[in-house]
Amino acid sequence: MTRATSAQLYEEALQYFPGGVNSPVRAFKSVGGTPLFIDKGEGPFIWDADGQRYIDFNASWGPMILGHNHPKVREEIIKAVEQGTSFGTPTRAENRLANLIFKHNKVIERIRFTSSGTEAAMSAIRLARGATGRDKIIKFDGCYHGHVDSLLVKAGSGLATLGTSSSAGVPEAYAKETIVLPLNNKVAFEQALMDYKDQIAVVAIEPIPANNGLLLQDRDFLTFIRAKTKEHNIMLLFDEVISGFRVGFEGAAGLYDIQPDVVCYGKIIGGGMPVGAFGASADIMDQVAPVGPVYQAGTLSGNPVAMTAGWATLRECSAAGFYDELHTKTARLVQAVNTHADTHGYPLHVVHQGSIFWMAFSKEEHIRAAAQIDSGSMSHFARFHAAALERGVYFGPSGYEVGFVSAAHTVELLDEAAQRINDALDATFA
Ligand SMILES: *Cc1c(COP(=O)(O)O)cnc(C)c1O
Repeated sequence: MTRATSAQLYEEALQYFPGGVNSPVRAFKSVGGTPLFIDKGEGPFIWDADGQRYIDFNASWGPMILGHNHPKVREEIIKAVEQGTSFGTPTRAENRLANLIFKHNKVIERIRFTSSGTEAAMSAIRLARGATGRDKIIKFDGCYHGHVDSLLVKAGSGLATLGTSSSAGVPEAYAKETIVLPLNNKVAFEQALMDYKDQIAVVAIEPIPANNGLLLQDRDFLTFIRAKTKEHNIMLLFDEVISGFRVGFEGAAGLYDIQPDVVCYGKIIGGGMPVGAFGASADIMDQVAPVGPVYQAGTLSGNPVAMTAGWATLRECSAAGFYDELHTKTARLVQAVNTHADTHGYPLHVVHQGSIFWMAFSKEEHIRAAAQIDSGSMSHFARFHAAALERGVYFGPSGYEVGFVSAAHTVELLDEAAQRINDALDATFA
């Protein structure tokens, strides 16, 4: 295998973009080496600039639930493009996507489309603050909600303290409006409510935290924060940018049967085009402009080409049995790798929820909070990542990232992928 062309393109990109990339984790910093430049994708495969084919488990970080370049999605996108790409007016494409969503998703009654998950989270937080007249928010260590100022915050010292900024350029005054708590910890949550309850507008959580490993929460913890937020008139925000339309059409809210007040979507909802969304009950969403006082807008929001990609994708996802099949296939892959790792005594446990999986290089089976992750284990992942690439299997270039199985990954291909992954593990621990 040669990556000469990718390396050359990366050299060129370094002259244009900070770190050669337009989003930081793409730069391969945590696994070493230089990023692959991808020329095309088809079904479960991507091809790099040197013409090599990889089985893709990154799925553009989640959106490509049907695999790449799905013929029905492509066909609809081309039809949309032929009509023109943007008008800055309402279009039928927005209605069509919203109608499909509401037909199969009872978690929300009104939706507003944005162009990214970050915008959706930012707008949802503003909505919660506007609707409650309170300023503080609670987020959890290990949950990511996009690069929103008030959410780029890490925990202070102690169980329930005001946060400190985790990025240069975020004023401490913003960070102080955010309380960062450990996941899956009722005691810390109760303490924070005791200290700040009348000031808290919203509790934001990824109900299936999938941006810092896959930190599966006890359902009991989620129902607990649902009950407590209700009791104190605090809004509960489910950030389902990854889990929405991924673990089921109604996301984690449907899976766990928990009704949040506000929900964010992204990734799959745009079918590979830039779309995010936030939604809630009609009452809450009536706080948003032009009906209500909470301002929110976007030149390209509801873009007809992007709406069409989302609609064509979700139409496939809404078919009977779609998610069951995806979940069964993923379980088979995960089991094949776990069995191999167990047999050889490797420090690896693959966890999954539906078609989201995470290779935790640790013997611990139940990692539920960010602090439980052994950062030393990431050197195993770096070696594994390189070995998997050599064997034609592509994972996101960080051990904190999850993988995704798409509908285009057949059982036969997943069996082959498991074999290659197991070979890569043997090389990692040789
Ligand atoms: C990806 C992601 C975001 C940010 O979405 P962008 O489209 O990258 O802005 C927000 N929240 C979660 C849970 C995500 O996974």
